[in-house]
Amino acid sequence: MALYWIYPSIFILYAVRPCLGLRNYPDNEVTLLDSVSALGDLGWEAYPAEGWEEISVMDERNTPMRTYQVCNVMEANQNNWLRTGLIPRHGAQRVYVEIKFTLRDCNSLPGVPGTCKETFNVYYHESNSETPPPLRHLRESQYLKIDTIAADESFTQTDVGDRVMKLNTEVRDIGGLTKRGIYLAFQDLGACIALVSVRVFYKRCPLAVLNLARFADTVTGGDSALVEVRGACLEDAEELEPPRMFCSADGGWLVPIGRCVCRPGFEEVDGHCQPCRSGFYKASAMDAYCVKCPPHSYSHQDKASECVCERGFYRAETDPRSMACTRPPSAPGTPISTANETAVTLEWSPPRDSGGRGDVTYSVHCAGARRKTELLPRTTYSFSVEALNGVSHLSPSPRTLATVNVTTSQTVSVVLKERRSKDSITLAWHGPDSSEGNVLEYEVTYYEKNQRDQNYTVLKTKANVMTVDGLKPGTTYVFRVRARTEGGHGNYGGEIELETSHEDMLAVGDPNQSTILAASVAGGIVLLVLLVACFVVSGRHCGYIKAKQDPEEEKMQFQHGRVNLPGSRTYIHPHTYEDPNQAVRDFAQEIDVSNIRIERVIGAGEFGEVCSGRLRLPSKREIHVAIKSLKAGYTEQQRRDFLSEASIMGQFDHPNIIRLEGVVTRCKPVMIITEYMENGSLDTFLKKHDGQFTVLQLLGMLRGIAAGMQYLSEMNYVHRDLAARNILVNSNLVSKVSDFGLSRVLEDDPDAAYTTRGGKIPIRWTAPEAIAYRKFTSASDVWSYGIVMWEVISYGERPYWEMSNQDVIKAIDEGYRLPAPMDCPVVMHQLMLDCWEKNRSERPKFGQIVSTLDRLIRSPSCLKPLANSAVWEDPPSPEAGVSTVEDWLESIKMSQYKDHFTTAGYVTLDSVLYVSASELGKLGVALAGHQKKILTSIQSLQAQQQGTHVQV
Ligand code: AMP
Repeated sequence: MALYWIYPSIFILYAVRPCLGLRNYPDNEVTLLDSVSALGDLGWEAYPAEGWEEISVMDERNTPMRTYQVCNVMEANQNNWLRTGLIPRHGAQRVYVEIKFTLRDCNSLPGVPGTCKETFNVYYHESNSETPPPLRHLRESQYLKIDTIAADESFTQTDVGDRVMKLNTEVRDIGGLTKRGIYLAFQDLGACIALVSVRVFYKRCPLAVLNLARFADTVTGGDSALVEVRGACLEDAEELEPPRMFCSADGGWLVPIGRCVCRPGFEEVDGHCQPCRSGFYKASAMDAYCVKCPPHSYSHQDKASECVCERGFYRAETDPRSMACTRPPSAPGTPISTANETAVTLEWSPPRDSGGRGDVTYSVHCAGARRKTELLPRTTYSFSVEALNGVSHLSPSPRTLATVNVTTSQTVSVVLKERRSKDSITLAWHGPDSSEGNVLEYEVTYYEKNQRDQNYTVLKTKANVMTVDGLKPGTTYVFRVRARTEGGHGNYGGEIELETSHEDMLAVGDPNQSTILAASVAGGIVLLVLLVACFVVSGRHCGYIKAKQDPEEEKMQFQHGRVNLPGSRTYIHPHTYEDPNQAVRDFAQEIDVSNIRIERVIGAGEFGEVCSGRLRLPSKREIHVAIKSLKAGYTEQQRRDFLSEASIMGQFDHPNIIRLEGVVTRCKPVMIITEYMENGSLDTFLKKHDGQFTVLQLLGMLRGIAAGMQYLSEMNYVHRDLAARNILVNSNLVSKVSDFGLSRVLEDDPDAAYTTRGGKIPIRWTAPEAIAYRKFTSASDVWSYGIVMWEVISYGERPYWEMSNQDVIKAIDEGYRLPAPMDCPVVMHQLMLDCWEKNRSERPKFGQIVSTLDRLIRSPSCLKPLANSAVWEDPPSPEAGVSTVEDWLESIKMSQYKDHFTTAGYVTLDSVLYVSASELGKLGVALAGHQKKILTSIQSLQAQQQGTHVQV
């Protein structure tokens, strides 16, 4: 019998040892028992005595090795047990058993009976005790079977002779362990086996460093669940997001989440944080690397989180650490002054050295004048101008000022002589000192007392006497006079009231009764505001039409308009000017083309391309602008029309009106520069973001438009083409009214159609009275505003869909109005209907619309009740008449989902009638707004199928 096992064991050892010799198990395996490396007796218990036998053999390096062998193949009824000592589990909940063994092929053993086996069983028993009951009392039920082990490779006698190794390795795992350890037991039922090695181990995730965090050595979980491990930041690192990883059952780390970053002054090198070298710094943990100190700063030590400014250089509190240190500016150029009797204009050139900053401001000091106080005539004042920037206050050095002494001139009071008849009044006055500069002309404004709002007359003359005739007898008129010199217009003086006589008599003013016009008629008026950066000559002038009268006089008559008197803000139509270029000069700032940088084309206007670009005006921050240019080959009329938009826009100053930055007229191409509106026109913007805004966001945009329109209506400006396409939206979702061109009424509007009376009108947006007899008023703008509300709430839907203009006119005349768009609050639809009152005096004013919207924004619960989503009864809904899924989707502008429907099997129109919201989601219509749109249309299809219409 021994014959059978001795041979194999010798050969096994020679052949196997080199493989067993690799004791460097993977570092995620922790060995609990390794029979090969056991130094002493394994001390395993075998029962019965003639069964398993421990055989110590020497390997090729003369190291003793213990094996257990059994080979009682010749006798039947074998039940040989071999049991290890207690193998402590050291906290592991799952352990692995790796068995290396050889097994003889029964056929290779001559004359063995049929009881010969080629398998053996492995069991385990969990226990807290190191002294198990003796094996002879072993009951199988106390042990849990791990598996029956068979050989992949058995070996035959010939193999042994050929020294072919047939070593089997089998690994099994045991989970859910809770006691101190386990006993392994091997049961042989009559095979010829040699157990060469038994190793028990558990798995762990070994210590790992990832994303600058250390994850401790972790024992894997008992079942296949992952163990979450929180990492700790390495030295000089801090948590950006708590670092975590999962230890998987097979000892691998998975799914790193979060990370640490090197703290300020340190940077990551080879997975660790290293201090910044001197001359370098890192200001924020979020920065990846240390960078060189910016100009005029240094860091002498390692680990700098910021660099220190060199002497004489400073960093303002709000300056980023990456910015160069800067210093106060040098003194500005010596001011040049112009003075009249009560005001002084100072001009100076910027400092030669701005100190390296762009935020230079100026502080003007006036010795002897109090803040905002008028200056006295014939008095010498000493002005000093100081240039300041963001670090001036940090510098202890004395400031450098540019000073100038200025003497104001003498005030001239105008003595007004009068001569009256029943239809004329003659006025005369003294002009100011010739030292004030040449008077170019005087402007006499008068109106009939108590009729101020209706009719103003402005007369101009170069003489200082004027006869105003054509007056009504026995009527009181109010006169005011001002002068214009090269510096611009002076202030109007106080008003004087004079009455024409009742009979035709000559009334000569008694010098003693002469009226003193308590006015100073002076040259360019500049209000001196101390401590303000610069002086601005401002003032919007009235235009005038030359009328023949006294050749010395020019007369300006506004039949419907008013002149710009202080306190009133009225829009002046550029056509009021005989020379439209003057209107442009009056209302738009000329910009030097070198200050403009064109970046890209963003659209096409009527007169040429619209581009975006940058505008940098001297000593101003660079801004993003839109640039409209006049294409080459224009006629003079086109140039005027193009620039008329600037002369109109330039008169407005409101956060919801597109702001004019200026014009370029001195070189070609002629350009109009406006603020840049990142999101472009409102209709396109809404279509692009269909269903993506809250009602409050939509309301906010509408509120802006209403506020802009309120301002325009208060300026007596009627827009005539208010529509979502003419509203621009910036990056903060602020909407602004645009499109003020004169010719755009309405040549460039694709939605404008010719009416029977001639002239183009955007029918769908225009009030009936404006279509019928061109009655354009702020009330007709309110009608258009109602349409804009509808466009906004329906995300850019076309008003009245595909109805023809004629049908729209007819439907409106018959009293039809657009139904509430989907999800439209009742109150909003009501507001639209109010705007669409047939009688224009019953429509709300823009001011009321703004208040209503403000009220709704403040109490959003009012927005909850939604108007029933209704279908426009007559004319037909967009779905009417469609017969295929493709046509249907196209009619509701959802053709992007054509393929989705086809792929999901909806090929006939009937088949879509019962599609639900969840099915829409499944077939790929993800946006809620689109789902709603499709579902509403399906309802309408259903209604058509049943021959019913929902009444508006
Ligand atoms: P308009 O000639 O004013 O109708 O402009 C034509 C197109 O250019 C508009 O529809 C806008 O898409 C774009 N556009 C005009 N002005 C601006 C601006 N200030 N900011 C951004 N885009 C603009």
